[in-house]
Amino acid sequence: MQRIASEREAATVVRRRNVCADASRRHTLSLITKAAPMAQRRPEVVIIGAGFGGLEAAKTLRRVPVDITIIDRHNYHCFQPLLYQVATAALSPAEIAWPIRFILRQQNNVTVLMAEVTGIDAPGRVVTTQAGRFSFDFLVIATGATDSYFGHDDWAVFAPGLKSIEDGTRIRRRILSAFEQAELTEDENKRRRFLTFVIVGGGPTGVEMAGAIAEIARQTLARDFRRIDPRTSRIILIEAGPRLLPTFSVKHSNYAREALTAMGVDVMTSSPVTRCDAHGVDLADGRRIDAGTIIWAAGIVASRASDWLSAEHDRAGRVIVRPDLSLPGYDYIFVIGDTAAVQDAQGRPVPGLAPAAKQMGHYVAKLIAAHIAGRTLPPFRYRNQGALATIGRRAAVVELGPIQLKGFLGWLFWSAVHIYFLIGLRNRFIVAVNWLWNYITFKRGARLITEVPPPRVD
Ligand SMILES: Cc1cc2nc3c(=O)[nH]c(=O)nc-3n(C[C@H](O)[C@H](O)[C@H](O)COP(=O)(O)OP(=O)(O)OC[C@H]3O[C@@H](n4cnc5c(N)ncnc54)[C@H](O)[C@@H]3O)c2cc1C
Repeated sequence: MQRIASEREAATVVRRRNVCADASRRHTLSLITKAAPMAQRRPEVVIIGAGFGGLEAAKTLRRVPVDITIIDRHNYHCFQPLLYQVATAALSPAEIAWPIRFILRQQNNVTVLMAEVTGIDAPGRVVTTQAGRFSFDFLVIATGATDSYFGHDDWAVFAPGLKSIEDGTRIRRRILSAFEQAELTEDENKRRRFLTFVIVGGGPTGVEMAGAIAEIARQTLARDFRRIDPRTSRIILIEAGPRLLPTFSVKHSNYAREALTAMGVDVMTSSPVTRCDAHGVDLADGRRIDAGTIIWAAGIVASRASDWLSAEHDRAGRVIVRPDLSLPGYDYIFVIGDTAAVQDAQGRPVPGLAPAAKQMGHYVAKLIAAHIAGRTLPPFRYRNQGALATIGRRAAVVELGPIQLKGFLGWLFWSAVHIYFLIGLRNRFIVAVNWLWNYITFKRGARLITEVPPPRVD
């Protein structure tokens, strides 16, 4: 039997025993078996991933008597919805990403570790990283998603996706270098290729990228070169399905197509890409498009958590969790955000969006606090907070229940929401000023090509 240190703890254990009559029985028992060591220490919560879900879980546990270790492979939290602005030279990385330890600096119950998680021993309650092993009483897995090339991972080198700050700066480098290469070459075919930009995937990221590259070519760089005219660039947005923004209404998806076409983007729908290589893409109907820059925005797959846990997963690799977001068989392990396959009250899959990840992070933190106090909570319920996508510097679509906006009003709304959710007053101010400046002048401040040898023209 475990040692019970005080009457108060004894009362807690009795209360826990009373709670464990039915479904929560296994969980409560697991707490009791851990109660002996926990009598001398606070429960250890390990959170893997400091994205939207993991960070929200850590913050919600602020006043709970637990010790939290948050492990991330990066030392920063990235505001992914604005990554495309880094990739298209409108913002600098430091304006959309913040050191995790800075964000959590005032939360004394959190330790931040920069490490790559490589495995989890679920029954043994141990997380393995390249820097060592960490035990836990509760584990929250919030490792997000990565690009899916539908079985063609070799395409990644030709068609990078956009998931991290490194991806953003890599794509920025490719876009800006393409104009430099076009200016250098004497060969007309190569020049055309360098000035052709293909974006694969017509979801919000693809639409945002296509609109932003069109602006760079037609406005920002229009007068900066002498041997080429950037305005002659081709920007091609390719979507396998019949329409852009498939999760939005048909009305808004048609609007997005019209707005992009007006900006000079060639939109190709019902055109699956069958191959990417160093010089372009092949389409299912046999067409070939030569392009110097290809950007992948066509799909995502969950992080490797299901491998680590040997857990059941859906087709996108997301771990199938129980209604309280716990891993079947392990009441003390939770999977949240883009890595979890969860359903809403209507039985539809909860979308891979920042608000969904935050809601899940908040919920599991409350659940952990409830478990420690010997209580339970009703299952997780997703609250749909709508969808937004911007198309250019003065057009966006917004679907937020009764609020349905498009065009300039939509863009104003989109801008206000994104500025509001940025971390820190300074960043909000800088981003707002940048956008205003960009809006008035078409200028983009972050146009430096760094960390590369001079462009080649082969
Ligand atoms: C380009 C882009 C645009 C988007 N736009 C929008 C939008 O406009 N609106 C919206 O609501 N959503 C948007 N999303 C989706 C939204 O960003 C995600 O749904 C959300 O980030 C998911 O949160 P998460 O906590 O599950 O994962 P993430 O926020 O992705 O965080 C995962 C964290 O885990 C860390 N990690 C992963 N693997 C490991 C490992 N092995 N070891 C250690 N750490 C690890 C990563 O470094 C990362 O910090 C966008 C996503 C992208 C990529």
